[in-house]
Amino acid sequence: MVTSRRCIIIGGGHAAAQLSVSLRKQGWSGDILVLAAEPLLPYQRPPLSKDYLKGVRPRDQLPIRQQAVYDSLAVRFRLGARATAIDAADRTVTLENGETLAYDRLALATGSSVRRLQVPGVELEGIHYLRTLADVDAILPGVATGKRAVIVGGGYIGLETAASLRALGMEVRIIEALPVILQRVTAPEVSDFFLRLHREQGVRISTGAGVRAFAGESRVSSVICDDGRQYPADLVVIGIGVVPQTDLAEAAGLVVDDGVVVDNQCRSSNPDIVAAGDCTAFTSERYGGLIHLESVQNAVEQATVAAATLCGIESSYTAIPWFWSDQYDVKLQIAGLSRGYDRIVIRGDRNRGRQFAVFYLKQKRLVAVDAVNSPQAYMIGKRLIAAAPALDPVALADTSVDLRTL
Ligand SMILES: Cc1cc2nc3c(=O)[nH]c(=O)nc-3n(C[C@H](O)[C@H](O)[C@H](O)COP(=O)(O)OP(=O)(O)OC[C@H]3O[C@@H](n4cnc5c(N)ncnc54)[C@H](O)[C@@H]3O)c2cc1C
Repeated sequence: MVTSRRCIIIGGGHAAAQLSVSLRKQGWSGDILVLAAEPLLPYQRPPLSKDYLKGVRPRDQLPIRQQAVYDSLAVRFRLGARATAIDAADRTVTLENGETLAYDRLALATGSSVRRLQVPGVELEGIHYLRTLADVDAILPGVATGKRAVIVGGGYIGLETAASLRALGMEVRIIEALPVILQRVTAPEVSDFFLRLHREQGVRISTGAGVRAFAGESRVSSVICDDGRQYPADLVVIGIGVVPQTDLAEAAGLVVDDGVVVDNQCRSSNPDIVAAGDCTAFTSERYGGLIHLESVQNAVEQATVAAATLCGIESSYTAIPWFWSDQYDVKLQIAGLSRGYDRIVIRGDRNRGRQFAVFYLKQKRLVAVDAVNSPQAYMIGKRLIAAAPALDPVALADTSVDLRTL
């Protein structure tokens, strides 16, 4: 039991929500204070581009936990309180308003912020990013049946936004600078499927097209690409990736490399400071090298380990990463990381229909699975990644073979 000491958590997302609660539940009896820049209690981000944007999930179902839960655990929040500096030697945090707060232990859960597009006209009305609830609330008034939406970026956020706006009756075009959508995160076979899916739903997709500028008077009216093509737009949503928020950590002298570098107990290079979630990078024994993840799973599980570490409880972060994406009637579930594989095996028909799985093998062992409307392939894939048996690719691909027998 740790007594009468103060832990400050900087951040207000999935990681902060979990860390604060886990800290108390794992035995921290001192003060727990969460400094959150946004004016709201931590809320679920995944529905922002999915059901909340579509209007089928109400706002009151977004909070991760209700105030009463934090109250019952004596977890205090200061909302709208952005930390601007950490003095690691004095163990203090400074807020935007100049106030200085002392801590005994500090947890960083500062997450990611959107990568910004630096092109002429990007400040025009009607051009948005999509990271926060406030972002979606600003997008919604521009959504109208028959109006034209241009999505810049063909990653998961861009594709989910396209699917939601299409469901709301908008004419949608996706502009992607790379030659294929989802290039950075999946195999060409899966990208091809999502290209077909969106085209079947009436979305136009332009790949290999960088945005050069936005045109319009005060409000955006078109998007101009590098190749000179111009696309009319009533609404633009930019989803070109995120960057870990590490400014505070860097200024405080912590080791940062595509995230605050933490060990498997979520300790930063300073013994008083842990970190969890999108703002971190860590060495993965399973996949090798330093990895940086952007997922709810990583935020929640790292936060639980970070809380244990603060309480002096032995714990280690070795979880298999998982992620999901919902687009139209398709649920994509991903387990593991599709890096370093030497072979892929496809189970089911990816060229027709909307159900198949792609298994990524390295020396016959499963390192990742992308399961499209195939929850069983996802569940069993996860177990096969953990157990790591040598697999027969022919049996894996054969839909008449029960996956459970593998
Ligand atoms: C639209 C959208 C859809 C997504 N869909 C999925 C999905 O389907 N599946 C999935 O696994 N993941 C999804 N993600 C990713 C997932 O939401 C993130 O990985 C997760 O939110 C990370 O949690 P976090 O707490 O580390 O960071 P964040 O959620 O980024 O929270 C960090 C918080 O810290 C605050 N903060 C930052 N700096 C300071 C400071 N100096 N002082 C005070 N507060 C500060 C920020 O304002 C922010 O509120 C999605 C993300 C978005 C935006």
